[in-house]
Amino acid sequence: MTCFREKRKKSHFMIVPLPAQGHLIPMSDMGFLLAKRGVQVSLVITRANADRIRPIIEHAKESNISFEVVELSFPNEKFGLPAGCESIDHITDMGLFRGFFDALYSLNKPLETFIESLERPPDCMITDMCNAWTAPVARKFGIPRVIFQGPSCFYISTDYNLVQHKVYDKVINENEYVTVPDFPIKLQVTKAQTPGFLNNPGFEDFRKKCLEEEMTADGMVINSFLELEWPFIENYKRLMGKKVWTVGPFCLYNKDDEMKMGRGNKEAVDKSHSVLKWLDGRNAASVLYINFGSIAVTRPQQLMEIGSGLEASNRPFIWVMKKKEITPVVEKWLADGFEERTKDRGLIIVGWAPQMVILSHPAVGGFMTHCGWNLLLEAITMGVPTITWPRFADQFVNENLVVDVLGIGVSLGEKEPNIGIDDVIKVKSDDIRKAVDALMDGGIQADERRQRSKDFSEKAKKAVEEGGSSYVNLTDFIHYFTEARSELVLAHGQ
Ligand code: UDP
Repeated sequence: MTCFREKRKKSHFMIVPLPAQGHLIPMSDMGFLLAKRGVQVSLVITRANADRIRPIIEHAKESNISFEVVELSFPNEKFGLPAGCESIDHITDMGLFRGFFDALYSLNKPLETFIESLERPPDCMITDMCNAWTAPVARKFGIPRVIFQGPSCFYISTDYNLVQHKVYDKVINENEYVTVPDFPIKLQVTKAQTPGFLNNPGFEDFRKKCLEEEMTADGMVINSFLELEWPFIENYKRLMGKKVWTVGPFCLYNKDDEMKMGRGNKEAVDKSHSVLKWLDGRNAASVLYINFGSIAVTRPQQLMEIGSGLEASNRPFIWVMKKKEITPVVEKWLADGFEERTKDRGLIIVGWAPQMVILSHPAVGGFMTHCGWNLLLEAITMGVPTITWPRFADQFVNENLVVDVLGIGVSLGEKEPNIGIDDVIKVKSDDIRKAVDALMDGGIQADERRQRSKDFSEKAKKAVEEGGSSYVNLTDFIHYFTEARSELVLAHGQ
């Protein structure tokens, strides 16, 4: 274990993310934010994850904020994992999932060793919803523990209600629609679309622990903001009967250009400059950006079908493909004409894209995405309307929020989960073209959708400004745990 830190004088919050890009990124953002608000922050991550964001860590050090990274070594070998497999997106074989979680859950001892090395335990531990292993550690040292919930309140209260009311116990056909009980609106989902996190065979023990430890937490902190989904935030607070702080959107805290470029993976820094140059030459709101996040895989047949849809739409686009998606078939298809035919208006990025650099550019006018909560919220924050194509986890319910409740998305109509195993076409090129036209064309509906997106963007920015809802919530959050420490000190006369 390596640890860089200075002597502690202020409130000290420890952050323990799940090693997955969609969790690590917002939790690191939150760490920077807390540090900027005067808290001393320790971000506990494994070495390979720290390496991905090394330039940002260095940048934070230079910025004179109290932000330290505590690097734990991940016991890959002991749990049969390949070297360097330290994040969910590193897992290439589903058979390794269990070993990955076993390895993660064995980090309790190194974390205890780190806490023992401190003058006094941190004032608060912010830990991911999937990190139930941190709860006994927090209890051992008397540290208040807050759960970071990755998705929207819209999703987490849906999930909570489905579990509490045992709705799926009565379901025989997993594609049958059921109504979510005790919810502010009529929402219908299928079990296949919304099974709940870690609800897979072989993961029963992890899921049980996570659900139990959620109930023992001192509160929840969420990457969302009041003006976006207040009825669902209120509903979630009522259901949990605990403190719930919505303090997002976290992506807005990353104002520095270098931090934006290297967000999530240092490999995006170099790409940022050429992407910016390419975007600078385009008309306002003319470019469609396509990115399906860090985990969802698009298989060759579907990938080439997307290409046909983009060609037919005849619009400028930036399309992000994962390295593992570039199979020999795809490579040949790209070289055999697609790249040539679209060279004047298409930019393909292979690997990690500088998402915030792209979304915040005025030339970007639409975003096709799998509806991961972070990407969606980033698009909302930047005022970019979306084409939605959910694959799994919280994504179908997120689509519902964006398309049916907020009115800022066009759905591609996918109803069944797809974890990227079968090489089949689920969405046809013509449906892609139609959705792109609907989103990017003028016309009353498209204009209204774009206007609503801009309105939410304004509200997001106001929420994090001094006096805004998320700003005020964050102040309350910091005070709540700082005062808890003072009471503890008084009680123990330290
Ligand atoms: N991301 C990025 N570049 C990429 C892919 C993803 O910066 O090429 C970031 C994205 O901005 C978001 C996170 O990775 O912050 C993905 O989180 P999300 O929950 O949206 O999706 P997931 O990857 O977990 O499916």
